[in-house]
Parts: sequence; structure tokens; C-alpha cells
Amino acid sequence: MGDEGERNMRPPIRVAVTGAAGNIGYALLWRIASGDCFGKNQPIILQLLEIPPGMQRLEGVVMELRDSAFPLLHDIIGTEDSSLAFKDADAIFLVGSRPRTKDMDRADLVAANGPIFVGQGKAINMVASRNVKVVTVGNPCNTNALIASANATDIPSQQFTAMTRLDQNRAMGQMALHANVTPAKVLDVFIWGNHSNTMYPDPRFATIDGRKATDVFDSEWLQGPFLETVATRGKAIIVSRGASSAASAASAAVDHMRDWWQGSNGRIVSIALPSEGWYGVPKGLVFSFPCTCEAGKIKVIEDLPIDSYTQLKIDENIAALLEEREAVSDLL
Ligand code: NDP
Repeated sequence: MGDEGERNMRPPIRVAVTGAAGNIGYALLWRIASGDCFGKNQPIILQLLEIPPGMQRLEGVVMELRDSAFPLLHDIIGTEDSSLAFKDADAIFLVGSRPRTKDMDRADLVAANGPIFVGQGKAINMVASRNVKVVTVGNPCNTNALIASANATDIPSQQFTAMTRLDQNRAMGQMALHANVTPAKVLDVFIWGNHSNTMYPDPRFATIDGRKATDVFDSEWLQGPFLETVATRGKAIIVSRGASSAASAASAAVDHMRDWWQGSNGRIVSIALPSEGWYGVPKGLVFSFPCTCEAGKIKVIEDLPIDSYTQLKIDENIAALLEEREAVSDLL
């Protein structure tokens, strides 16, 4: 980098990633370090958290990051101590959590992962920047974000979000493929609800190369194969690859945080955040809404009309998330 580039640089920010030696971490860290998330003139200090059995793998990941010689990467800290990993963090990706095994249903997953997010919420509360932006990726991500936020009592709850951007990106990808356009031509499809197979990709305000998606596609496709493909994509990828969709999850996490940090340029994006009662969603539930981002702030679009089909889908997600919240009520 020349002198001119150095002069335009900002002071480094601290970015924490949990589960950093896992599959998603392996795809995510390189995108963050290259400037894809926080901008090409934003130096980064990476603060990476692992559990003790993951520490040896983490050492290897840190070696590889150093070997990539990223100009923006000012320092790397690898640790099993959450109070070091979250110290003064400006942005946090909560990725680490116990993956679902064959014998586990969603309730088991909620029970296994809830306590992790109690500890992490408390640690964030103690040591992170008061302006920290948190995205939760580890599943069940909506409820994990709720638990972390409830245990970080000094940090405004709206700074704790969960990722439904992968579902949005999957919807955009399917629409682009079906209309034979590039994904850049697909705008404003977004997700309601929970990152699970009840999530609902709302096509009513989407446009495809300037045309309404509801004119380009018939309702049979939108309510049938489109919805089915987006809802079951994670499973289809596991069947095909023999491994989960880690790279696209990492890419979606970058998109989520990039738009929150740098702005969404007026585009609608999907972010799950604690409801203020929007669209009848009970206050506090971490629910995916249509949002825009500007100057580091998320704004929920509050006045979209809701038809009976969309209401049904919103209600299904409220019911699922209320059930999850009930299951972890002792952790909140
Ligand atoms: P991954 O990096 O593949 O996934 C991490 C989490 O992201 C899982 O909860 C997974 O949920 C979730 N996820 C969300 N969206 C997706 C998606 N589209 N595709 C795949 N996963 C998705 O898991 P690994 O097991 O490779 O790595 C996890 C790391 O976390 C390990 O290194 C482990 O040591 C660490 N860990 C940390 C803990 C802690 O911080 N206390 C606790 C447990 C593990 P799902 O399984 O439902 O797909």
C-alpha cells in the first residue's frame, strides 16, 4: 500500500469471532480480513475465541491468517477466554455453538446451546465496546441472540441481532436463476421470522430487473417450489456435499454486518432483532423484519401492508419463537 492509501486509513477496530476454528470461521475470517465487511480502508484486529478442544486448530488458523499477509490485519488474538476475546470489541460474530447431531431435535439444540449464550452475553456486557454490533449465527440463532442480549443488561438489546441473510440470499439466488438474470438485478425480497424452516421469504415488494417479482413469477411457483427450495436448502446442501453450507453462511454473515456497518443503500435487507411490537410480533422476540441500514443504525420498515397469507406465515414464526423462548425462560 502506498503513502496515499496509508493516509486514508482509519484507526483499527476490534472484531471478535467465536467458534473461530470451525467451518464457518474458516470461510468468514478471510473475508473479514480482506476488507469485504468493514471496508478497504478499515484496519482490523481479530479476536478469536475457541473452546479448549478447538485451540490447536485455532493455532493453525492463526498461522494461515498471518501467512495471508492481509494489509488490513493489524493483529490477531486467539484465546479460550471470552473476556479477552470480547475486550473492547466493536463487532462480534457469535458463530460457535454445538452443531445439531442426528438424534437432536430443535428443543434439544436450544437446551444444549442456551447456556453458552448466557456466558457470552455476560462477558460482552462486561468488556465489549458500548456500541458493539453483534450478529448471532450459531443455531438456533434467533433464540441464542435473545439469550445473549438478556444477559447483557447494560447494552441496548437492539445491538444484538441474528442472521436471516442466508435465507434472503438463497431467495435472491433462486429468483435470479428462475428469471435468468444476475443476483444484482433482484432487489427487496426479505425474510420474516425465525432462521428455521418456518422462515418466510416475502416476494411482494421484490423486483427483478425493475419488474415486480409477482408479475415475473406465478404464485404457484412462489408459494410452491420457491418457498420449498429456500426452506430446505440447508438440508439439500448437506445431502449433496456431505457437509453443511458453511461458505454461504459465512458470506451471508459478511453481508449482514457489512450492510449494518456501511449502510444498505436504500435496499431492504433481512435482520432478526428484538421486536418493539412491530407487525404484532410480541415485544422482545428476536424476529426477522424488513430493514434498511444507514450510518450504523438499523431501521425496521414498519408500514408494509400485510395480506392474509403473509399474516399466516408471520403467525407461524411467532408461535415457533414463543415456544423456543418458553424453553429457555430460566436463562433470560
Ligand atoms: P460451523 O462453523 O459449521 O457452524 C457453527 C454454527 O453455525 C452451528 O451452530 C450451525 O448450526 C450454525 N449455522 C448457521 N447457519 C448455518 C449454515 N447455513 N450452515 C452451517 N451452519 C450454520 O460448525 P463447526 O462445528 O465446524 O464449528 C463450530 C466451532 O465452534 C468449533 O470450532 C467448536 O470448537 C466451537 N464451539 C464453540 C463453543 C463455545 O463458544 N462455547 C461451543 C461449541 C462449539 P447448525 O449446526 O444447526 O447448522
